[in-house]
Amino acid sequence: MIDLTQLTIKEAGEQLKAKQVKATELTEAYLDRAQKFNKKLNAFITITEDIAKEQARKVDELIADNQQLSPLAGIPIGLKDNYLTNGIKTTAASKVLEDYIPVYDATAVTRLKDANVVFVGKTNHDAWAHGGSGENSDFGNTLNPYDVTRVPGGSSSGSAAALAADMCMAATGTDTGGSIRLPASFCNLVGLKPTYGRVSRYGIVAMASSLDSIGHLTKTVYDSALILNATAGHDEMDSTTSTEAVIDYTQDIERGVRGIKIGIPKEYFEGLDAKIKKVIMDAVKKLESLGAEIVDVSLPHTEYGVATYYIIQPSEVSSNLARYDGIRYGSGREAFGSEAKRRIILGTFTLSSGYYDAYYLKAMKVRRLIREDFTKTFEKVDCIIAPVSPTLPFKFGEKANDPLQMYLADIYTVNMNLAGVPSLAIPAGFIDGLPVGMQIIGPDFTEKQLYQIGFAHEQEAQLYKERPKI
Ligand code: GLN
Repeated sequence: MIDLTQLTIKEAGEQLKAKQVKATELTEAYLDRAQKFNKKLNAFITITEDIAKEQARKVDELIADNQQLSPLAGIPIGLKDNYLTNGIKTTAASKVLEDYIPVYDATAVTRLKDANVVFVGKTNHDAWAHGGSGENSDFGNTLNPYDVTRVPGGSSSGSAAALAADMCMAATGTDTGGSIRLPASFCNLVGLKPTYGRVSRYGIVAMASSLDSIGHLTKTVYDSALILNATAGHDEMDSTTSTEAVIDYTQDIERGVRGIKIGIPKEYFEGLDAKIKKVIMDAVKKLESLGAEIVDVSLPHTEYGVATYYIIQPSEVSSNLARYDGIRYGSGREAFGSEAKRRIILGTFTLSSGYYDAYYLKAMKVRRLIREDFTKTFEKVDCIIAPVSPTLPFKFGEKANDPLQMYLADIYTVNMNLAGVPSLAIPAGFIDGLPVGMQIIGPDFTEKQLYQIGFAHEQEAQLYKERPKI
């Protein structure tokens, strides 16, 4: 008998359609694992067992009725707990919203519901998505299934751990400065940070509105494309969503990389840990052997990324978190944790009269230069390949008491958010049993091409078949 929790979304979808397996069976298998391993990993804040069973039952009915369904119908997924879910507790992993039950769904949730997915539960993360390790959650740390003494990466820590441990088949995330890509890299997963405005932010607890990108984690590149097919597109509830046409992101995914020009930016490799560099350059060589052309490129403002990000982001955080006054819903402001307080104070300072020009305005000017680096580079190459993280998954406590060290974990990821460009993190290899990821970055709205490149590598490397020993 096949182990249902080892299937990809594509495989499971085909089996559901062919009536070889029922959505209720698939859901039971994942719920069992979620309940069992959540005790160990703390990946979910809420497991929505009754809702999952009901959704699965409905899918079985529709299939029995021979209805045409989305390839995602009956697929058990996890939702990061900063996605508003009508009638389901949504905490943003903060005590401030400990008992908050939304009265509407985020647009991404509505679209996933329309595709008839099954909700396994709401995943843990750094409170308000502030962090790179999951250690800022008010609901405890999520453990990395590959080594439970290490962080799974953040802020989408629970989504990554739940997926890597086969507690769901995909999980949603938010990426403001790396929060999808870093956990993907630390847990051997595929993580998409779409182009800014490709997926609606409506109903997602706002972190920094000009940077927030709504994406997801999956085991495979193809599965990632299937989810983007459902979530992408203009939304009248979010005026920053693009009207750019949504295409079928799985189409021509097997195109290969012949003739594709891949830029290797020197700023992302200088000073990089030698072992991590080797894993990524070996992956690049694989793509070269498949017909890609490798070109050296330079993005000269890269080094200003972290400083720029940690001015703009807290500025926006201080504004977005002002709404939590405890008057209409949620607890009072004393319930904020120390990281949220740090960002509120920083952001209030950088926006205050007398300091605005020196910090916020200056950072916005540098942001433009960072965006121009990408624009100019993409005149020469189709995409850029870079590491996701400067280190392997680190131990709990290693950076938690030193905010600056924690912020430096974002050194390779924040610039794509500042520039708004899409980036696909995929598994690149392992070092001493710990996963290493790399990112493929492209011009605005080139997710389809990023998937083609990622798919070509994945077919060669087959890293998605690796499983943590838990
Ligand atoms: N680690 C970054 C931060 O703490 C990114 C967070 C995110 O992408 N949500 O700001």
